[in-house]
Amino acid sequence: MGTVEHEIHGVAGLLPICQHLRQKFLADTNPGKAISVTYYFGNFFGKPNCPMIAGFVYWVDCAEQYGLPKEDSMLDGNEMASAPSEIIEGSCCKCFDDFLDRHNLTSNFIYPPEDEANVS
Ligand SMILES: [Zn+2]
Ligand SMILES: [Zn+2]
Repeated sequence: MGTVEHEIHGVAGLLPICQHLRQKFLADTNPGKAISVTYYFGNFFGKPNCPMIAGFVYWVDCAEQYGLPKEDSMLDGNEMASAPSEIIEGSCCKCFDDFLDRHNLTSNFIYPPEDEANVS
């Protein structure tokens, strides 16, 4: 599982996606809508511009079913614990981006605002 895609992209990062999107990704069928959330855990040792974040992309139907946001959002890192781990699978982030591209979709991760202390 996942070996073919990594022969193409090498050590590309693993992106958590829901298993429904994963099925559509493997079958290359248009998911219609994919929702991206960013979990934000604060800044690494309080350093500006070192946000600790984790992304998760899921199918629109999962929002309803699992009580997840219905639009692209940024959530507190603590909320990640309540994400349904049983539906989360990893995918090569580049292959998944290509898949979204093929179906005219994008993952719009919302990033934490830059720390004002770093703006001079
Ligand atoms: Zn799903
Ligand atoms: Zn890949």
